[in-house]
Amino acid sequence: QTIGDFFAAVAGRQPEREALVSRHQGLRYSYAELHREARRLASALLGLGLERGDRVGIWSHNNAEWVLMQLATAQVGLILVNINPAYRVAEVEYALNKVGCKALVTMAQFKTSDYLAMLRELAPELNLCLPGRLAARRLPELRAVVWIDVAGQGEEQPGMLRFSELMQRGDAQDPRVDDIAAQLKNTDPINIQFTSGTTGFPKGATLTHRNILNNGFFIGECMRLTPEDRLCIPVPLYHCFGMVLGNLACFTHGATVVYPNDGFDPLTVLEAVQAERCTGLHGVPTMFIAELDHPRFKEFDLSSLRTGIMAGSPCPIEVMKRVVEEMHLTEITIAYGMTETSPVSCQSSVDTPLDKRVSTVGQVQPHLEVKIVDPESGEIVPVGQPGELCTRGYSVMHGYWGDPEKTREAIDAQGFMHTGDLATMDEQGYVNIVGRIKDMVIRGGENLYPREIEEFLYRHPQVQDVQVVGVPDARLGEELCAWIIPKPGAQPTEQDIRDFCKGQIAHYKVPRYIRFVQEFPMTVTGKIQKFKIREAMKDELG
Ligand code: ATP
Ligand code: MG
Repeated sequence: QTIGDFFAAVAGRQPEREALVSRHQGLRYSYAELHREARRLASALLGLGLERGDRVGIWSHNNAEWVLMQLATAQVGLILVNINPAYRVAEVEYALNKVGCKALVTMAQFKTSDYLAMLRELAPELNLCLPGRLAARRLPELRAVVWIDVAGQGEEQPGMLRFSELMQRGDAQDPRVDDIAAQLKNTDPINIQFTSGTTGFPKGATLTHRNILNNGFFIGECMRLTPEDRLCIPVPLYHCFGMVLGNLACFTHGATVVYPNDGFDPLTVLEAVQAERCTGLHGVPTMFIAELDHPRFKEFDLSSLRTGIMAGSPCPIEVMKRVVEEMHLTEITIAYGMTETSPVSCQSSVDTPLDKRVSTVGQVQPHLEVKIVDPESGEIVPVGQPGELCTRGYSVMHGYWGDPEKTREAIDAQGFMHTGDLATMDEQGYVNIVGRIKDMVIRGGENLYPREIEEFLYRHPQVQDVQVVGVPDARLGEELCAWIIPKPGAQPTEQDIRDFCKGQIAHYKVPRYIRFVQEFPMTVTGKIQKFKIREAMKDELG
């Protein structure tokens, strides 16, 4: 089955049920309406001259148009390319050209970002050409730009097409849509998602219907979603978290997705949960923290909540416990995954005991394999020992777009994806993520895990945030280095930190270099880029 087949079947079964609520747009769609509009859009995209296998970019925050694009492209075999709305000129140029996007759908403006101005800077020729004509020098593949008129009153844009106009050109009964849909295979690529760029340049993971439709289904199974569920999704759709753990988990179970806003804002999330009687809520740890700590948190009735997922980065036990107790999310789980594996490989289910649910990333998902190996020898390590997590099954990506060499490095001959993450597994199969291999430090033959040292330094009363990395050392191979952001008003010294460590952690775990900084280098999605800290230290130490 393809995503289109699946959605058509659900819409046929329960046409009247609400599929989508986009609160900031004031839009509501039933399953039948969403299905019809997605077909209309699919027909309109064919009308632009796009053909099965062509790449179409979407550079936008969460909105109804995003979902329509996801469903429409899947119906006619176009490959949707998710582009982060925080990308700027150089990044969007790289992404569009890397995968050869023929069309791009974008917002006109968002807050202070002017997307159309960025595109004009990149391709001034767009002013002169109509869709389908003249190629722009810096975007040679691009043929059409479609813009979403969020406020509904934007001026005409020469050379660019308004989304509502594009929709009007489509025909929901277009027989070409059915003809193409009948030829599609579930192993066809349907989506390219860029990784977050935490460890270097973002890589474009190519995913098929089979990859993400199945993953969305099993995520929904672990959460025990039913058509009665209403899931609030403040996480972005351009990332697999929103697109798969949100949209596809809901659609495969006939449930309703609710978008509280187009960018993250804790207050609108709390309002949406209360007003829509949401039963589920997703988020990365920092989102849940912002919601819990909001000054008006106590005013909201969150008693409808039951389930949800915390994922994306290490999920602190304390935050999980607060979410269970204070937000009513008694069945919340942690999920672990990566863009390249559609994304989830490990997840707790509703049946996982609470202590395991808050302290581990759960067990391997149905129909997938996970093994923990010694990164050097490739041998499976004993229970409880850290090693690289490798996973195999339906969820492993098709490959990195246009990069067979990188694909071969990531997926071995037996089909295992090497995640680059260090993990342990206990006797019952519960998995704990220890950190990334690239972050592990080998000092004089001793393996050191930065996360352990960071967790210790967090306890210092003057430390707000800390990152530990390895830096090259002629004698020991590597030495530890800590970058610390002090709490506001605090001025700890290097000696304070050393004294704090003394007698508490082994001497070789005490960082050789300690630096106080105001901020860490971050990706546009808010993940900390340790490689940039390492580079800065290399420059400093020569
Ligand atoms: P890049 O691959 O470009 O360096 P990235 O790995 O951060 O960036 P993503 O695919 O968005 O890009 O993130 C996947 C990574 O996020 C995983 O490999 C893992 O390191 C981390 N991660 C995801 N979920 C969890 C979790 N529950 N606990 C700890 N780490 C997690
Ligand atoms: Mg990665």
